[in-house]
Amino acid sequence: MSKDNLTNVSVQVIDENKVFQKDNINNYIKSVVDKDLALNYHVISVFGSQSTGKSTLLNTLFHTKFDVMNETQRQQTTKGIWLGFSPKIQSNITNNENIFVMDVEGSDGRERGEDQDFERKAALFALSTSQVLIINIWEHQVGLYQGANMGLLKTVFDVNLSLFGNTAHKVLLLFVIRDHIGNTPLENLADTLTQDLTKMWENITKPKNVDENVKLTDYFDLKFVTLSHKVLQPDQFQEDIKKLGDKFTKDDLLKIDYKQNFPVDGWTLYAENCWEQIQSNKDLDLPTQQTLVARFRCDEIVKESLELFKSEFDQIFESFDYNIDAVQLSEKFTKLSQLTLNSYDSQASHYNSLVYNSKRETLINDINFKLKSIYDLYLKNLKKSSIEKFNAIFQDKTNKSTFLEKSQSKDLISKEFEISLNQIFTTNEYFEYELELKEFKNDLDRELQNITLNEIKSVIIKFNKKISPLIKNQTLEILSIPDEEVWDRILNNFHEIVTNSLSNFKINDDEFDFKLGLSTQENKEIKIKLEKSAWISLDQFIHDYLNEDNVITILKHKFEESFQFDSNNVPRIWKNEQEISKSYKEASDFALHLLPLLSIAKTSNNIEIIPDYPLFEEQDDEDKEDNHRFAHILTAVQQNKIKTKFLKQIEINYRDASRSIITNVAK
Ligand code: GDP
Ligand code: MG
Repeated sequence: MSKDNLTNVSVQVIDENKVFQKDNINNYIKSVVDKDLALNYHVISVFGSQSTGKSTLLNTLFHTKFDVMNETQRQQTTKGIWLGFSPKIQSNITNNENIFVMDVEGSDGRERGEDQDFERKAALFALSTSQVLIINIWEHQVGLYQGANMGLLKTVFDVNLSLFGNTAHKVLLLFVIRDHIGNTPLENLADTLTQDLTKMWENITKPKNVDENVKLTDYFDLKFVTLSHKVLQPDQFQEDIKKLGDKFTKDDLLKIDYKQNFPVDGWTLYAENCWEQIQSNKDLDLPTQQTLVARFRCDEIVKESLELFKSEFDQIFESFDYNIDAVQLSEKFTKLSQLTLNSYDSQASHYNSLVYNSKRETLINDINFKLKSIYDLYLKNLKKSSIEKFNAIFQDKTNKSTFLEKSQSKDLISKEFEISLNQIFTTNEYFEYELELKEFKNDLDRELQNITLNEIKSVIIKFNKKISPLIKNQTLEILSIPDEEVWDRILNNFHEIVTNSLSNFKINDDEFDFKLGLSTQENKEIKIKLEKSAWISLDQFIHDYLNEDNVITILKHKFEESFQFDSNNVPRIWKNEQEISKSYKEASDFALHLLPLLSIAKTSNNIEIIPDYPLFEEQDDEDKEDNHRFAHILTAVQQNKIKTKFLKQIEINYRDASRSIITNVAK
């Protein structure tokens, strides 16, 4: 196929969806190249802001047919990267170079992120796949960093270096300065641009696998040309283009150096690979290579620093006194952390700051994880000793404070704990604070509860010790004169003892305070417990004392009193059997009528005594049976047994009396 009647004027290399058009390119190349080009071809690309006449330049210089912005409609051309084969260079010299030209179509909306992304990737692609990169700028843009696209160029160079740094071939950067008026000579413009580029190159952080001292000129040759204003000086413009074409044909610009080392059919594959790498490089603002190196090195430094930390840590905490002050512990923590972080910072801070910071975070987490184990142990110990301290206050016999005053030291101990906790916590926010404090306060509350419960028990015991003998002795005394009102007196006496003993705690008509810092309800419960324990004392005593033998003894005693003594308490002298018999009957009846009084506890108006509270917890639920147990002292069977035994035992009194008559008669 002849170069002059190309069926396809150009082909899309990268479409608007950023897809590489491999098949279309191969077909296009086959359609425009009819012989084996071997290595004898060039790829030339253009870079520059939109609508700066790039396509116009290429079409004029290389006779390509790229879309040019329509002057009247200012329509947007299809976005993407286009490839066109040059049938011939516009030149004063006949030529037959095989030149492929790439034109980048973007949009004017440079501020839009999506477009910037494409622009950057397209520029990088052009740079990595071409031998000549034409940088198209207006004359008035020279010296303006933004205007001349230097920022974009810097990113592109930077990423190019990290992506293709070691494989990159040398590229010619041809600055085509448009609309050159002629006031400033080319050499001055070239100087300015060279200085700007050199400065920019120095500011690029070189990837680790690239020598730090590489120069711009190791990667790029710089050439500068000017073109006259196309519209104002059309003839001059054409003349300038021809002169530029001459440079291409005279082998001045197309030096062998720039050539790729593979045939043109390999270029498609190579370009595809380049595009893939550029595409997969998620964020071209991030120097990938640098990041990788930073990650690798920072990981190593983290490891080293952690080892340092661990050896120091082991040394300090191997045999550690957990009773030290929180301030001291806090200092140790801070020192250890600082030592470790200093070691990390001194080596790692020069690496990519994102990587450096994120690895620093992981290091801090690792440090804290270890410190936390000590923190936990320390707090456990601190909690234990604080609770012990609290307990000791109650056990201290020399401490004359009241129970209430002692229990108020809870606040002080809690405060002390909080201060210690705070001391360590402020050095490290990784530690638990609120939870630990809450837990400790709960522990203290629980401890005080236990202590109070014990104190209640001892109040009850003390109370019991005091009233139990009173109940016993006074009830015993009352029982020694058993009559119909004996239980009224026992009950009254009992209530009096209880009321007297509780009077110290009474604060008003129906409220008590046992000075344990408890609520009205709790105090009421204690009062009930005390009363109940008094009832138990009474119950125990009467059931113990009024057993069969004792009751027989009481009855006998009462019998003897009335049988042996007359109403003036004078011992009787028996005169005859009849008299004895009568008195004997009277005395035994008198004694026996006491038996029911001692067998069941009833008041004089015949009401059975029922304790105010159930006395035996385990029988609480089983109806009122339990409460009747108190009054029911001797069963009917027991009473009969007592009666029988009693009558048998007093017989001897009768016989003795009879004998005394015989003695009297005998005298
Ligand atoms: P591209 O977007 O960079 O490819 O620019 P185009 O080649 O499509 O041209 C954009 C506009 O600039 C068109 O209207 C051209 O006629 C105009 N143009 C082309 N070359 C020149 C030039 O040398 N000087 C000036 N002032 N305008 C030009
Ligand atoms: Mg264009």
